Amino acid sequence: MTTRPRPKVAFFDFTSCEGCQLTVVDLLQDHPELLDAVEIVEFREAMSEKLPLDERYVIAFVEGSCTRQSDEARLKSIRERADLLIALGACADLGGVNAIRNPFPLQEVREYVYGEKADWYETYPARPISAVVKVDAAIPGCPIDRDEFARAVTHLLQGRMPNLPDYPLCIECKSRGTVCMYQRGQACLGPVTRAGCGAVCPAYGYGCEGCRGFVPSPNLESMREVMREAGVSDEEIESRLRIFLTYQMMELEGATS
Ligand code: SF4
Ligand code: SF4
Ligand code: SF4
Repeated sequence: MTTRPRPKVAFFDFTSCEGCQLTVVDLLQDHPELLDAVEIVEFREAMSEKLPLDERYVIAFVEGSCTRQSDEARLKSIRERADLLIALGACADLGGVNAIRNPFPLQEVREYVYGEKADWYETYPARPISAVVKVDAAIPGCPIDRDEFARAVTHLLQGRMPNLPDYPLCIECKSRGTVCMYQRGQACLGPVTRAGCGAVCPAYGYGCEGCRGFVPSPNLESMREVMREAGVSDEEIESRLRIFLTYQMMELEGATS
């Protein structure tokens, strides 16, 4: 009896905290069937082997943002070798927290972080990987949701794209019966944030910060108005919108490079 080769899957990281990869490592301990269904050929977080350069990946998962010119060549090389390239988590999908620095002069940021050695380190404005290469799908969140990742892998192996909710977080929040953060005197980005995490932050008493990215066609003016009516200052509103969404906000303002 011949056994069919398993699809080759690889994980790569760019600028990130590696929390999304750790979520995958954690998940694989509970889902050994995923390890039977795929062959993991590169995953720096968990193994040292690498695939020979003349072989291809069926799925490449990429964690992290592009934050320097030299990231681009590496990312393009991964893209060329991958049938499917999937952004893993908010850093890769949105630019995420790495993009908080983008509105500030780059040299100032370098000096703030690296002091006198600022010129030793290559950097440029942080961007999502889709700003550099074609991305076939994203698994959002900071970090990713374990169950959503498992479902996404199953769909990809069946030849389907991951099915992300296109409705706002408030729908999930209401259906689990959480008292709205605005009724508790706190702000929340739920009305403009893509659902899918189960509205976990409001359930634990924290307003959503938008780590899953905007819902399609977010009404930001109404969102700002709701926050203002709740007593949130304009400065706090903009800060909150820019924790995970600076790159998207700057795109909307036509200020990305
Ligand atoms: S999305 Fe969050 S958890 Fe994932 S790598 Fe980025 S900062 Fe870490
Ligand atoms: S807590 Fe946030 S997500 Fe939940 S209903 Fe209120 S605004 Fe929407
Ligand atoms: S509630 Fe908001 S910030 Fe919290 S995990 Fe969900 S999308 Fe991310």
